[in-house]
Amino acid sequence: MFARMSVVRYRGLHRLVLLHILIRPLSSGPPEPEIVRDCKMTTARILDFIKTRRPEGPCLVVDLDVVRDNYHAFRHALPDSAIYYAVKANPAPEILKLLASLGSNFDCASVAEIQMALDAGASPEHISYGNTIKKERDIARAHALGIALFAVDSHEEVEKISRAAPGARVFCRVLTDGEGAEWPLSRKFGCVPQMAVDVLVYAHQLGLESYGVSFHVGSQMTKVDAWDSALADAKRVFAQLAKQGIHLQMVNMGGGFPTKYLRDIPSAEAYGQAIFAALRAHFGNNLPRTIIEPGRGMVGNAGVIKAEVVLVSKKSDNDNHRWVYLDIGKFGGLAETMDEAIRYPIRTERDADEMEPCVLAGPTCDSADVLYEKNMYPLPVSLTIGDEVLIEGTGAYTTTYSAVAFNGFDPLKSYVI
Ligand SMILES: *Cc1c(COP(=O)(O)O)cnc(C)c1O
Repeated sequence: MFARMSVVRYRGLHRLVLLHILIRPLSSGPPEPEIVRDCKMTTARILDFIKTRRPEGPCLVVDLDVVRDNYHAFRHALPDSAIYYAVKANPAPEILKLLASLGSNFDCASVAEIQMALDAGASPEHISYGNTIKKERDIARAHALGIALFAVDSHEEVEKISRAAPGARVFCRVLTDGEGAEWPLSRKFGCVPQMAVDVLVYAHQLGLESYGVSFHVGSQMTKVDAWDSALADAKRVFAQLAKQGIHLQMVNMGGGFPTKYLRDIPSAEAYGQAIFAALRAHFGNNLPRTIIEPGRGMVGNAGVIKAEVVLVSKKSDNDNHRWVYLDIGKFGGLAETMDEAIRYPIRTERDADEMEPCVLAGPTCDSADVLYEKNMYPLPVSLTIGDEVLIEGTGAYTTTYSAVAFNGFDPLKSYVI
C-alpha cells in the first residue's frame, strides 16, 4: 500500500495536495517525502521566456523579480545589518545593477569582481574585498580603486595590506565548525579566535584600522541557530581587544542563508530572529555594526536551468534502473552535485506519470560527471530522449562553475529577465 502511495505522491501538485489529505491519517509516520513538487519554483516569467524564446542548448534563466524579493526579505529580516551580496554566487551584470540600485553593498573575492561591482554602479565604500587570500598587487589595485575594507586571517596578509593599502580597515575571519551546512566551507578560511586577537592587534600596530571580526557558518546552512556560537566567539575577540584599548566596531556574519531545493527551509525572517537574539545574548545593549553576505540565499531560487534528455538507457537487459543523461552535468554548471551535496528539484512535462529512481548523469566523457547515483533520482518512467527538463533553484553557483569547452561543450549560457 505505502509503496504505491509514495509513487503516486510524486505526481502533479494538485493530486499531491489531495493525496496528502487522504493519506496522512493512514500512514503511521513514514519519513517526509523528499520530493515536494512546488510549481512556484519556476516563475511564470521564466516558463514564458523558455516557451517563447526557445533558447538552444542548456541555459540558465534568472528572474530579477525574485532577486528583488529576496533582497527585500533580507532587508526586512535583518533591518540593522548592511547587506553585502556575495558576487561569486552569480555575477551577472543585470543582477549586480539591480542590487546596486536597491542599495546593496558587495562582497568581492578578486579585483575582477570589484570591477564588476563598480561597473554596476556601486561606489567603492560599498564594496569589501572579502577574500583572505590575495596577491599584494591585487590589494594595491583594489586600494587604487578606492576599496578600504579587507578580510584577513593571518599575520602575513596583514603585512601585505599594511604595505599595499595603508590605513585600510581590516576584519579578521574566525573558523566555525560548519555543522549543519549542506555545503560546508572547511578549514580553508579563518583562524582560531585566539589567533584573531593577535592578528587584529598586529594590524593595529601596523597602522591599519582593526575594524571587526567575520565568520561564515557554511553554505546552505539549514539550522537557524548556527550563528550563535560564532557570535559568542566574536564577542570574546571584541572583549580581548578592548582590554588592549582597541575597540572593534563590526561583525561580518557572512552568508550561509539557504535556498529551497527539495526540502523546505526556514524563512529569512526566522534566520533574522535567531541571529538578532544571538547578537543580543552576546553583545547585550552594546550591539556592533553588522554585515551579512548572502550569496545563495539572494539568487539561488531566482534561476532555472533548461536542459534536455540526451539518452535514457540501461547497462544490461535485466538492469533494474535506468541511466538518464542530460546535456548538462558537473562541468556544465552543476558542480555542487559533487558528493551529491546539493540536490536540485527537477521538473519535466511528464511529472504526472509514474516515477522511478534512476541514475542521473551529464554528457561529458568524464566518469566523475554523474550527478546522482548513490542516492538515485526519481524521474518519470515515460521520460524520453529529447524531453526538456527544468532544474530549479540553480540561480547560484552554476554559470561561473561551468567549464570553457571541456569536451567541446559551451559554458552555460545565461539569460536574466
Ligand atoms: C561564498 C561567500 C559568501 C556567500 O555564501 P552563501 O552561502 O552563498 O550565502 C559570503 N561570504 C564569503 C566571504 C564567501 O566566501
